[in-house]
Amino acid sequence: MTHTTLRRLIVILGDQLSLDNPVLRDCDPARDMVWMCEAADEATHVPSHKARTVLFLSAMRHFQTALRVRGIPVHYRALDRHEATGLDRALIDDVTRLRPAEVVMAEPGEHRVQELLTGACRAAGIEPQIVPDHHFFCPTDDFQRWAKGRKTLLMEHFYRHMRKREAVLIDDDGQPAGGAWNFDKSNRKPFGQQGPGMLPAPVGFPPDAITREVMALVERRFANAPGRLDAFDWPVTAEQAEAALTDFIDHRLSAFGPFQDAMWTGEPWLYHARLSAAMNLKLIDPRRIVDATVAAWERGQAPIASVEGFVRQVLGWREYVRGVYWREGPDYLGRNALDARQPLPELYWSGETDMACLRAVVGQVLDHGYAHHIQRLMVTGLFALLLGVDPRRVHQWYLAMFVDAVEWVEAPNTLGMSQFADGGLLASKPYAASGAYIQRMSNYCRGCRYNPKEAFGAEACPFTTLYWGFLDRHRARFAAHPRTALMWRNLDRIDAERLARIRGQARQLRAQLS
Ligand code: FAD
Ligand code: SF4
Repeated sequence: MTHTTLRRLIVILGDQLSLDNPVLRDCDPARDMVWMCEAADEATHVPSHKARTVLFLSAMRHFQTALRVRGIPVHYRALDRHEATGLDRALIDDVTRLRPAEVVMAEPGEHRVQELLTGACRAAGIEPQIVPDHHFFCPTDDFQRWAKGRKTLLMEHFYRHMRKREAVLIDDDGQPAGGAWNFDKSNRKPFGQQGPGMLPAPVGFPPDAITREVMALVERRFANAPGRLDAFDWPVTAEQAEAALTDFIDHRLSAFGPFQDAMWTGEPWLYHARLSAAMNLKLIDPRRIVDATVAAWERGQAPIASVEGFVRQVLGWREYVRGVYWREGPDYLGRNALDARQPLPELYWSGETDMACLRAVVGQVLDHGYAHHIQRLMVTGLFALLLGVDPRRVHQWYLAMFVDAVEWVEAPNTLGMSQFADGGLLASKPYAASGAYIQRMSNYCRGCRYNPKEAFGAEACPFTTLYWGFLDRHRARFAAHPRTALMWRNLDRIDAERLARIRGQARQLRAQLS
């Protein structure tokens, strides 16, 4: 193919690694070419955990091989083989040089990247064609239609709409399978004193030659990036993602429901799927995941409570947060409804703290680039909320530190669900809790120098002190609200002298941690 005959330059980004990518559908290898680029800026615009960068680059390199095997030409810019640091500069150079008649891409997963690439094409004199990403159950337009005219965007309403629309876990008479939409009563249990017992070790994918090469590159090029690579075993191909799904269904799905909120020292995976990164990079389709889990229930391999609990996350939450992200637009990232201004404490990057829960969760994140939902929401997220950390800093940390972090899913979870920065669009009340919640759902407090029951004094748990401090700071905003009034009524039961001591200790903590 000479450059002047290039019909279509097909842009495939690091989180679009599916052979079902709509832009590949009528690809003609004789006239079209795929364009992929490892850009240093993507690993540095927020500091990116080494495992996150390795996962993206390794999965991209494996995908490139899969395309070539199918005879599709790929113009692949490897990180160490080109000078351009940004995706935009690289694309301008290549569009100018290759002069394709068209540039096509599926919708990027981030406002920033969408603007960057559209701008690059225009700078090179061509208007890109951006096609909808079929990887999701709910196209962004459908979400807009669902949301239009609603006073509140309740996830539960969206979820039931999607269950019916997609006929997932719906009986012939149109009723929810198992007789209920929600099995929360059977779910969300702690392990109890004795702990989780023997846990099934999830299947891991030790680094192959491609991954090892990328690991060496990342250690060299991003030596100061956070995180460790010794335990890297994430799926980097579609085949591995499929094996990870089978492993989850065979060994962990049946206990997923009851223990999805439980936490235990030294046990990062418990009964979780470990599939978010593979799904977000499009190594596996969420339809395949939902179908396979529902099939497990149909053949009696897993109870309805676990399967419904899991489907709720993938068909409900995952699609819902994506809809919110695209509906609210780029200014969502700047929201700060609680006017939180504290810096993010250093312990988030180092894991060095005498708070056992934070030490365990941040340590696990540094080791694996992973924490499960409740660890993210009710340990790292909760502490930042109670402390009053600037939500933008919290967002940057979550985007940096998790292998599954892509902005469309990370930002609404962080800013909306965890930090209440959107003022209640996503969560009707702040996820505020004291150390008692962590004590109930984990064993962290047993190995901690603090006492979750104490709100002031030398042994006071910082979560508990800051919890009352949070209620106290935000009393005017929430005390009259019907969904939150109860929490604030409890504050009123604390006598004045006690409250003054808690207030003083909360203020001191916030000063120390800034
Ligand atoms: P499981 O616990 O086994 O759940 C199954 C699947 O459900 C996940 O793979 C995921 O695809 C989906 N899911 C579950 N909860 C959510 C949710 N709230 N939103 C969207 N999808 C969900 N998820 C990401 O994929 N990327 C992120 O960057 C991300 N950032 C988060 C930040 C915060 C502050 C919080 C509270 C949550 C965040 N989540 C994010 C959601 C959730 O924590 C992860 O999807 C989950 O922990 C991934 O682990 P798993 O695959 O073992 O999931
Ligand atoms: Fe965390 Fe407080 Fe429990 Fe310590 S006592 S582990 S700081 S919740």
